[in-house]
Amino acid sequence: MEMTPVCTERIGTDGCIIGSDRGHRRSKVPRDVEIDIEFLYKVVPQLAKVFRIIDKIGEGTFSSVYLGEAQMRDGRREMFALKHLIPTSHPTRIAAELQCLTVAGGKENVMGVTYCFRKDDHVVIVMPYMEHRAIVEIIGSMSFEEVRLYIYHLLKALRHIHQFGIIHRDIKPNNFLYNRSSKMYALVDFGLAQGTADTQIELLKVDLTGLRKVPRPVFGERNLNSCTPAPSTTKQAAIKTESGKTEEPASRRYPSASRGPLPVRSQSSSQKPQRAMQQGLTCNCYQTDRVCNICMSRKQQVAPRAGTPGFRAPEVLTKCPNQGTAIDVWSAGVILLSLLSGRYPFFKASDDLIALTQIMTIRGSRETIQAAKAFGKAVVCSRELPRQDLRTLCETLRGRRPSPDDEVTPLPEANKDSTATHRHEIQDNTPTHRPANGAGQTFPNHQEHSQTNELTKHDSESDYKAEEDERGWDRVPDEAYDLLDQLLDLNPATRITAAQALQHPLFTDL
Ligand code: ADP
Ligand code: MG
Ligand code: ZN
Repeated sequence: MEMTPVCTERIGTDGCIIGSDRGHRRSKVPRDVEIDIEFLYKVVPQLAKVFRIIDKIGEGTFSSVYLGEAQMRDGRREMFALKHLIPTSHPTRIAAELQCLTVAGGKENVMGVTYCFRKDDHVVIVMPYMEHRAIVEIIGSMSFEEVRLYIYHLLKALRHIHQFGIIHRDIKPNNFLYNRSSKMYALVDFGLAQGTADTQIELLKVDLTGLRKVPRPVFGERNLNSCTPAPSTTKQAAIKTESGKTEEPASRRYPSASRGPLPVRSQSSSQKPQRAMQQGLTCNCYQTDRVCNICMSRKQQVAPRAGTPGFRAPEVLTKCPNQGTAIDVWSAGVILLSLLSGRYPFFKASDDLIALTQIMTIRGSRETIQAAKAFGKAVVCSRELPRQDLRTLCETLRGRRPSPDDEVTPLPEANKDSTATHRHEIQDNTPTHRPANGAGQTFPNHQEHSQTNELTKHDSESDYKAEEDERGWDRVPDEAYDLLDQLLDLNPATRITAAQALQHPLFTDL
């Protein structure tokens, strides 16, 4: 792609130096970032009048975020985050994101907005820049007190947005900026937000479902068969929705109780094959591993399910149509679980059913089935998975307790099969075992971790434990696990709210 710099005084002749006009802070950025910056100046030329764009600080599916410096009237230079939304974003979606920031932002640990630029399809949201570090970098050195404060501030942000009837839908550490030295916190990214029935955000009253989606393929969004030849023995969990259409038909195989796989099925409790017959929806694929043409032509159950699988609440994973602010509370619970166990990400699943299976492994299959029934979904699981004690689980994962292999029920064979591709993915970009800083996820490779642990034991072990004790991990109060238990309530109707959680005994002194 050929790119003409629109703002030559800002681009050095070698094409590599940006911001040479004022002679300060000549920063060198990689060539691809530099091209992106040039492109941004080109599509939104007004930016050049105000900002010197220094670097790219975030890149997602729906936006790229840049660091920009502006000279203020009083001569000070200030840093801003410039969020450039993909030009295909729906205007209503963009407006809703902005309205969340303008109405609820700027206080209570919620990011505010300074300005917004638009030219044609290109929109740039300008926010105060908050320096922060990724959770994966700091999780291994966080003290218990730091974790307690982090969750407290996250819950404060949630209480605040929930008061406005905003459901964030993508609560995860990447969207909750944390500056360790200044003890500042900011919830960002309302790009997936939705409104409750009585939301105060006008633009969230519009049905935003699907406005930020790429066109849906006939088969599930992640067809495992297209990445790896799925062995015919793969037992893949399946969700059959109200209409009978499966979410992942390509990989749907009917459960067999042998070999200890963990097929999960969930469907609307009310759905009975007989009823389908009565309605003239007779089909012969019910309870088989195929999807017939009748089912193929059915409408998909529409339920919002945006977000990151590992942070999705059970009611989201099972496509419960009425979802509320409780889904954000669940995600906060997953974050707390991660911080208490020292593992990030805790759940990492490429699809909803693997995510649901991982939840059942921690919270119990019977409990999950029962909760799902309460919100109108039938979940079927071929093998009973006992609920884990949260303290034992977290202390084991932190290496504070001996780790017999059955302490955490490892993921069943079937899921390991079906996540084969996914495991490669992880090995490419995430630490798979606990290095010095403690990062490394729990699922799906808990076993790899235990092996690594064996190797690194011996001399470093006691040092490690002493450091951990210093950071308060030897005296985590029961209140922490009690709150965790209430955040990770499988039933959204009884799950603690953010406002209630702030009143929890864990936070009495705050
Ligand atoms: P996306 O929808 O692409 O995820 P986000 O709003 O979450 O966009 O921003 C992506 C990343 O950019 C964030 O995870 C964060 O690292 C960075 N970022 C966003 N806003 C700010 C800000 N105000 N200050 C500093 N960094 C920010
Ligand atoms: Mg984000
Ligand atoms: Zn059918």
